[in-house]
Amino acid sequence: MRKSLVAGNWKMNGSRDSIRALLGGILDGIGEVNTASVAVCAPFVYLQQVSEQLVGSPVAWGAQNVSEHEKGAFTGEIAVSMLQDFNCGYVIVGHSERRSLYGEDDALVAAKFARVRAAGMTPILCVGETLEEREAGITEKVVARQLQAVLDAEGVGALADAVVAYEPVWAIGTGKTASPEQAQEVHAFIRGMIAAQDAAVAEGLVIQYGGSMKGTNAAELLAQPDIDGGLIGGASLDAAEFLTICKAAG
Ligand code: PEP
Repeated sequence: MRKSLVAGNWKMNGSRDSIRALLGGILDGIGEVNTASVAVCAPFVYLQQVSEQLVGSPVAWGAQNVSEHEKGAFTGEIAVSMLQDFNCGYVIVGHSERRSLYGEDDALVAAKFARVRAAGMTPILCVGETLEEREAGITEKVVARQLQAVLDAEGVGALADAVVAYEPVWAIGTGKTASPEQAQEVHAFIRGMIAAQDAAVAEGLVIQYGGSMKGTNAAELLAQPDIDGGLIGGASLDAAEFLTICKAAG
């Protein structure tokens, strides 16, 4: 039985004060979340503060990106060893904003995925199609290509300790959510693609949905058999809203 994971992706939002208040609100209500795992992915500079506030709590934390390099002359970059120093449990790799705004291609995402796993943290691998690609009828082709890059580099066994987030790009930050049926279709496709290589890995793989998930639509999305939680952007900045999603996840 898979355990759902709800992870907040704060993106480039927050301040010392707002983060203190947000985490305080989440911790106040976390006892009402029964079975779902919960995590927040914070901007790098707040990881120290986040780790101090969450240590010993049921809420895990992580980062939103990482360098593909081990260390060295890469000005402005952050290494996996630095994230380990702050006891990060998760690292998002291949978010569509990184792919589209910062030119991260499949090979780079696969290299980051490998670094995160090798460091003993859990990569949250984001995949998903643009509106243009959906309308062209190539959603599965795009998602398969994104997944295949990691499978080719790391092998199917690597997904035994990873999370996949299906995030249709047209649904991210737009208020336009995929319907439960649209999302389920792609989630089932992803699981099927993995199952063709390893049934046990596919069965255990947590596949999150991401894209304008909020308190009002979480339950119907999470009721789908292949949707195992959510990667939450905007709605993760509000403790009550985030907790409503966490509770809907189990
Ligand atoms: C995201 O950035 O991963 C995301 C899903 O954002 P939002 O929930 O705001 O659409």
